[in-house]
Amino acid sequence: MTDLVRFGDPGRFEIAVRWTHDHEPRERRPAHGGWSTGELRLTVGNYVLTRHERGQKVCDTVQWYLLPVFEWLAKQWISLLHEERFGWRENSAAPAATAVFLALRRLIDSHEASSEAAYARVQDWWFRHALRAADSSALYPDVVIRRFIDDVEISWTARQPIHAPDGFRFALSPGAATLPIAEVAGPLWEALAWAVSCPPQLEERDRGSIVELERMIVDLAKLSTVTLEGAYLPRELFQKVEEVRAEQGLQDKSVRVTPAPAISRIDDAVLMFGGVNPDVGASDARDLIALLISQRGGTDNGALSRLVKTSIGAPLSAPFEEGYELAEELLEALEMPGDASAVDIEGIVERLGIDVVRKPLRTATIRGVAIAGEGYAPAIFVNTTSLYNAIDAGRRFTMAHELFHVLYDRERARRITHTSGPWAAPGIEKRANAFAAMLLMPRDLVRRSMPIEALDRDGLFHAASLMRVGPSALLEHLYNIDLLDEILRDELRTLVSAR
Ligand SMILES: [Zn+2]
Repeated sequence: MTDLVRFGDPGRFEIAVRWTHDHEPRERRPAHGGWSTGELRLTVGNYVLTRHERGQKVCDTVQWYLLPVFEWLAKQWISLLHEERFGWRENSAAPAATAVFLALRRLIDSHEASSEAAYARVQDWWFRHALRAADSSALYPDVVIRRFIDDVEISWTARQPIHAPDGFRFALSPGAATLPIAEVAGPLWEALAWAVSCPPQLEERDRGSIVELERMIVDLAKLSTVTLEGAYLPRELFQKVEEVRAEQGLQDKSVRVTPAPAISRIDDAVLMFGGVNPDVGASDARDLIALLISQRGGTDNGALSRLVKTSIGAPLSAPFEEGYELAEELLEALEMPGDASAVDIEGIVERLGIDVVRKPLRTATIRGVAIAGEGYAPAIFVNTTSLYNAIDAGRRFTMAHELFHVLYDRERARRITHTSGPWAAPGIEKRANAFAAMLLMPRDLVRRSMPIEALDRDGLFHAASLMRVGPSALLEHLYNIDLLDEILRDELRTLVSAR
């Protein structure tokens, strides 16, 4: 038996494979891929995802036919590394492995007629991203791979395979990691190349499957940047972006990895539409791209660049706590609110040299947009069509929310073109919302503005108007930061909505 052939860095992402000798005669093995008996080991951050117990034995590799995994990898390549969006509206901030599992379970339990089509959509997404979809006869861990902005998100649950034999158990606790595209695409690409260049001794009838896999790899290598980009957005939305990009003569700024066919940094205009409703009209697409173009060529001022952090990363664990902490840190750095009765968000944004653009779009599903980073003058766009932004308190919240993206969501590429609203990634949005809430309603200011112990409806409304926030937002915030119990919150909720 040969050693495992390893691709990548186990401290980041590694795929290790080898062919093994199979004592079972060839004719008793599956006709398709039965020649490809081997072992597979996947490691993320030195954590071996394929580690399992078999009785008393602990084994790091899964032993099975490898061809289906390579075929799945080649077939789903574009989606695995470029598709971020779920095929359904997801509200949880959970990593994909958990989100897709829960979505499937929700729909199985649902008895609505429309859920059949919805189930098919979720299942299709699962087929494109879940390792277990590669081969239903294999015992693989529940690992899901997808793009997340300019990273690959690898997530896993502790769910055991359905048909696992007695004593077989993956020793996994649920988790997730995000890694730069190149660190995952590179090793996977090398593993594919290895499969076709170093196959085991093959009988004539089995050669065809290697030839076919090789053909798939050759086709992948020829993929255009536009084809890869297309997987980031729903098709109809991407077409609109493409049209406007061409119309405006906007250069495609996607950056590719070599030699693996993958985009390491997706074009700013494409990224901007990641949080946009697929039905958005052509005029809105044009307005959004015009906004991007109008900010080109600028930079951050000194005050802003001192506060920007690019190391925050994806919201994988505790989006609320991260948001709160960063808001408290920022207020401290800015020495705000002092003895003011409200946090001067307009003043903060102005001091940081961020342009504020208020304009109506046709769609109300976009609340705001943040543009900042390399090559851009920082800007916050407020969509005045959004009902939320019709009042002062809502606009202030939107500004604080977008400020989070400008400061902390720039990623490695050091730029952000993000559109906020119900279509944006829930983890990203929840974290920015928590930040906005704490920025506008810090604990000290809250305590100063109202008698929390004896809070009634009038006290709540009075404090909200002092702080220039919405009474509902204030109420929920008080509960979220444990200043109010559930009973009083529910009571006040009724009174607020009865207004
Ligand atoms: Zn947002």
